[in-house]
Amino acid sequence: MTVRVRIAPSPTGNLHIGTARTAVFNWLYARHYDGKFILRVEDTDKARSRPEYTENIKSGLAWLGLNWDEGPFFQTQRLDKYQEAIKTLLDKGLAYPCYCTTEELDQMRESQKAQGLAPRYDNRHRNLTDEEKAALEAEGRKPVIRFKIDDDREIVWQDAVRGRVTWQGSDLGGDMVIARASDSSDVGQPLYNLAVVVDDVEMNITHVIRGEDHIANTAKQILLYEAMGAKVPVFAHTPLILNQEGKKLSKRDGVTSIDDFRKMGFLPEALANYMTLLGWTPPDSTAEIFTLAEAAEKFDLERVNKAGAKFDWAKLDWINSQYLHKMSASDLIELLVPYWSEAGYEVDLDNNRDWWETLTTMVIPNLTRLADIVKETRLLLTESVEYTPEAVEFMQQEGVKEVLEQAIAAIAETPSLEIADGKAIIKTITKALKVKKGLVMRSLRAGLTGEMHGPDLIQSWVLLHQKGWDKGRLEKALSLI
Ligand code: GLU
Repeated sequence: MTVRVRIAPSPTGNLHIGTARTAVFNWLYARHYDGKFILRVEDTDKARSRPEYTENIKSGLAWLGLNWDEGPFFQTQRLDKYQEAIKTLLDKGLAYPCYCTTEELDQMRESQKAQGLAPRYDNRHRNLTDEEKAALEAEGRKPVIRFKIDDDREIVWQDAVRGRVTWQGSDLGGDMVIARASDSSDVGQPLYNLAVVVDDVEMNITHVIRGEDHIANTAKQILLYEAMGAKVPVFAHTPLILNQEGKKLSKRDGVTSIDDFRKMGFLPEALANYMTLLGWTPPDSTAEIFTLAEAAEKFDLERVNKAGAKFDWAKLDWINSQYLHKMSASDLIELLVPYWSEAGYEVDLDNNRDWWETLTTMVIPNLTRLADIVKETRLLLTESVEYTPEAVEFMQQEGVKEVLEQAIAAIAETPSLEIADGKAIIKTITKALKVKKGLVMRSLRAGLTGEMHGPDLIQSWVLLHQKGWDKGRLEKALSLI
């Protein structure tokens, strides 16, 4: 048996972290068993579905490295298949038209509530005679199609994550709507539970791996599989992603879509790596940095946890930094340019690539997210800088003025300053003024960058010198003393 799994997003929003994590688990499972990973776009909700969301979902999956083997299939292009299935269920007497109006359904629920009962459809149109149907139709009512759910039926499945799950038919809200009302003589638009089962049957899906918010749907879907005479796949319900308070992760937690994570400066490899750990424990739980392909070798549903997976920003940051710190400046630079540009700095890679790469190499160990590049390098990106009160105060100390004067003189004699030259100048000044090396270093840092903390001093100086900005900065500093 070839494993066939799918991700079935509805294009009613951008690719969400929850959907992406489900996609990761499906992808890992497919790759582990040499199976197929299928992309199916569940776009039957015409009012809320948008092509740009489909594009966002596709590009997000691709960015994460979750390549699909078949699809994308679109449910809106498969409507005839659902119509056919609905007609078969009607013919077999397993489904029927229900003519209730919204008002009637509301009344039904109100009176159930008044009696302290859970609201549900009371199956009142299950056994209408042909005459009754004709009379209701004569009133101009358009029926939805409902699938019969036996209240006494116990639905049981062996969930690959949660173990044995039991659901009582009477807890499913009565006979379920599988098609909306239609204005034509044809049956109307199919609903999710019907369409999903028709598709999963036709696409030979062997394992349905999806979020645990679908458990009640699974009970209904199993009844549909049986009604269609189809083999029920293995179900695996993955835990929800929770915020730090243990509630479902939502917009209020700062992010929802994969795009948000990308913009914040997470690398796709790191985010994918982190998502594998959101609900799955690798056999060797101490090794937490791995590629998707490496995770796929070890992945199985047995090690997917039942408990909700807490979203841990600190861990995601740590994983991202592990990936960033292993990268070379030449690999990283193109990814960083958008962050500099957005912050208003012009990056001239065509003429000055070496300068930008040296700058990047210097700060790579300080980066947690790509976006950090701006704060790590901002002191070196403009001809002059503002001086912090701390730096101005420091520069009033005895000896600083002389250090800066000597440095300015030395620069004039060193047309191309290298690291070794910087070191030599510092040594010479230390000796000449008989001061501590620390004072010289701090004076230069304050004078060159305007702040008392920052990236490697001599390397920064070299970079400023290459731009021709070091002398001017030191002169401006002198003017503040
Ligand atoms: N369209 C459904 C969703 O986005 C798919 C659920 C499923 O995997 O069956 O939640």
